[in-house]
Amino acid sequence: MPINNSLIEDSLGAMRLAIGDPPASLHEPHFAGNEYSYIKECLDSTFVSSVGRFVDRFEAELANFCEVDFAVVVNNGTSALHMALNSIGVSTGDEVLCPSLTFVATANAISHCGAVPHFVESDEITYGIDPIKLLEYLKKTTKKKNNTTINKITGRSIKAIVPVHVFGHPCQIDALLEVAREFNLMVIEDAAESIGSLYKGRSTGSFGLLGIVSFNGNKTITTGGGGAVLTNDRDLATHIKHITTTAKVPHDWRFIHDALGYNFRMPNLNAALGCAQLELLPAIIIRKRRLFEIYNSYFSRIPGLSVLKEPNGCSSNYWLQTLVLDREHTIFQRDLLETLNKAGFMSRPPWDLLHTLNPYLGHPRMETPIAMSLSKRLVNIPSSPALVGDKSHA
Ligand SMILES: *Cc1c(COP(=O)(O)O)cnc(C)c1O
Repeated sequence: MPINNSLIEDSLGAMRLAIGDPPASLHEPHFAGNEYSYIKECLDSTFVSSVGRFVDRFEAELANFCEVDFAVVVNNGTSALHMALNSIGVSTGDEVLCPSLTFVATANAISHCGAVPHFVESDEITYGIDPIKLLEYLKKTTKKKNNTTINKITGRSIKAIVPVHVFGHPCQIDALLEVAREFNLMVIEDAAESIGSLYKGRSTGSFGLLGIVSFNGNKTITTGGGGAVLTNDRDLATHIKHITTTAKVPHDWRFIHDALGYNFRMPNLNAALGCAQLELLPAIIIRKRRLFEIYNSYFSRIPGLSVLKEPNGCSSNYWLQTLVLDREHTIFQRDLLETLNKAGFMSRPPWDLLHTLNPYLGHPRMETPIAMSLSKRLVNIPSSPALVGDKSHA
């Protein structure tokens, strides 16, 4: 194994020049605002749990930031996606299109509805679903029946599509909306990684009928654990708020629940953290965009390697910075991972393609040569906002 290859040595050098001495974790939260005071306010008020003023405030401020009319906060991003799909009637016997190159939660949420994830190909530039290949594929493999798109092989209806903005970079959402329109698919945008990222100037998560974001600890901003559903549809927002809070009918003392509800609430304590983090988000994104420039200036000098850049016409939050090996250098992924991790720069390969995972073997899918190639030649590198800033030379 060519451990001493100059590409690997140069990468380690570039990493040191870019962000200084290790250790550096992959993504640490950044608490530099009102986090302590808002959480103290929660504790002082005793409203730490399922109701409180921070929940309502976070929903309003989040909707405003994400350019949608409504945001419903929940306990995590997976629940948000589950409830978004549930609210549009995705259920047993349906198929839902999603990329194979994404975090497992995208497919799990579809499965939690009793539906079947149907895996599709990614494009080489944005790493999101490839709309051109998708169109071609759907034309060949589906038929229309009463305005419903039917998978000719499985006989199941394909009800929705879940585009993902991978690593925070906006996918080709306009083109995907068009394909979705042609095949009568509802669009649920998985913007779990892309809060604050813009496609043609507009917030990701605001394009679909519904969108979701995640506030897990490793995401751009965090509530400890949390997520939200975004939509401009008042009825859907009202319904999702209702079913994620046990479907309880308001009453002074009785416990009436008029549907199968879920306890997916975001506690007030977490929403307090969210309010503080949202105030910081613009500054965090500036740091993360700056980090890309720094990495790019050092890594672009290394032949065979580049740093993933936001797609044209987009502004990315650069959630996870990504080194991209040229195809000819694919074999170096493992050495690169080993060397960087051993040196204390936490680095990770992308997710294993979902159709190769145990729960999803044999699921319907497109051929995915691009996603497969990407999974073998990408390396995510330290991306925390704190790597850029006051004490950084950069
Ligand atoms: C993080 C993530 C989710 C799920 O969010 P959780 O809050 O961890 O449940 C869903 N989809 C993608 C693409 C993600 O990265």
